[in-house]
Amino acid sequence: MIPFFPPDLFDDDQDVLLDLVAEVAATPDQRFILGPRTERLEAVIRESVGAADAVACGSGTSALTLLLAAMDVGPGDEVIVPAYGCAPLAAAPLSLGATPVFADVDPWTMVVDPAEVQELITERTRVIMPAHVFSVMADMPAFRRIAADAGVRLLEDSAVGQGGVLAGRAAGTWGDAGVYSFVQVKTFGMPGEGGMVVTDDPALGRAVRVLRNHGQDGRTRFRHHRIGYNSRFDEVMAAFQLHRFAGLPERLERRARIGGYYTERFAGLPGVIAPPPGRDGRCFYVYSLLADHRDALRDHLAARGIGSHVYYPAPLPRQPAFAPHAAPDRDWPAASAASRRQLAIPVHPHLTDAEVELIADEVRRFALSRGDAMTTEDRT
Ligand SMILES: *Cc1c(COP(=O)(O)O)cnc(C)c1O
Repeated sequence: MIPFFPPDLFDDDQDVLLDLVAEVAATPDQRFILGPRTERLEAVIRESVGAADAVACGSGTSALTLLLAAMDVGPGDEVIVPAYGCAPLAAAPLSLGATPVFADVDPWTMVVDPAEVQELITERTRVIMPAHVFSVMADMPAFRRIAADAGVRLLEDSAVGQGGVLAGRAAGTWGDAGVYSFVQVKTFGMPGEGGMVVTDDPALGRAVRVLRNHGQDGRTRFRHHRIGYNSRFDEVMAAFQLHRFAGLPERLERRARIGGYYTERFAGLPGVIAPPPGRDGRCFYVYSLLADHRDALRDHLAARGIGSHVYYPAPLPRQPAFAPHAAPDRDWPAASAASRRQLAIPVHPHLTDAEVELIADEVRRFALSRGDAMTTEDRT
C-alpha cells in the first residue's frame, strides 16, 4: 500500500517532539504561546525569504483573514480570488463582510488567470488575492503589474508555496504580503495548526501582530486598539519547526525530483496531462494530474494499492456557502473542468524510488490502455 498522505511524516522526529514538550512544559516562565521560540521562528522565516517582517499566527486561513483585516477590507469592498482552490480564499473576505469576486483559472496549471483578474477590477476592488496551486506558482509578475496599475493591494496566498522560487524571488514575497501554512500536509507542515504572515510593509506587520492577539499592542495588556482575533502561535510547535527547518531544503528537493521524474514519464500520454516541467515557479506541494477519466484512474490506482486524492471537487463559486455571493451570470469553465479532471498522486519525500516508479508505471499503464486521443499538444 502506498497511501496518499504519508503515515510516517514525523516519525524521525518523534523523540525530539516529546523532548520539546517536556522542555517547554518545564520552563519557569510557563510561556506556551507567543514566547521566545515563536519569536525565533519568525526571525528564521523572515531571514530565509528576506522579508521585513514575519508574524506567526494560528493557521494559514487566519493569516489571510488577519491580513485582509489589516488592509481594512470590509463591507462594500471586493477581493478578487481564484474560482478554483481552497475554501479560505472565499471565506476570508466574506468573514469580513467583503465580497469575493471569482476569477477563472488557467486550464492547464489551474492557477488564477491574470487576464481574468484584470477584467474583474472595478472601483470597489481593494485586494487581488492569487494563490499558488499544487505545484505551480501563480504568475506573480503579472499580478504585481495589475495591482500596481489599479492601485490595489496584492495578497499572495502562498500557503502551499513555501520553498518555491519564481525568477529568483521567494514565494510569499511578491505582494504586499504573503502567507504560509504549517498544517501537517504542507511543505513545511507540522503536527498541529499554525501559519505565518510575511511582509515588507512594516505597518502591515504591526497591524497583524495587534490583530492576532485581541487587538492588544504587546505593551499594554487589556487595552484593545482594534477588534482583534485569537490567532497565536504555540511554543512547542515553534520549537519543533525550528528543529525541522534545517531539513526543509532536502525534503523539498526530494519532492522536486519525484515530480520531475513523473513529468518526464508522463510526457505525451493520451488523456492524462502532467503539470508543466521545470523548477522555476514551482513549489512541489502536491503533484496533480488532469485526467479525462479521472475517477477511473483513481480506481485503477486504488486497485493496485496506490492512494490518490481529488482536491476541490467543485469550483468555489459553486459551493453552497459561496454561491449566493458569486456573480449569477458568470461561468468558470476552466475551474469546472479542473474540478472534474484533477487527481493528485503521492509526492511526499518518504516515498522510495521503487514506489515512485510503480506509481508512474501504473499511471502510464492506465493512460495507454485507455488510449484516448488527447495529448498535451491538445491542451489549449
Ligand atoms: C492550506 C491552505 C490554506 C489554509 O491554511 P491552513 O493552515 O490550513 O488554515 C489557505 N490557502 C491555500 C491555498 C491552502 O492550500
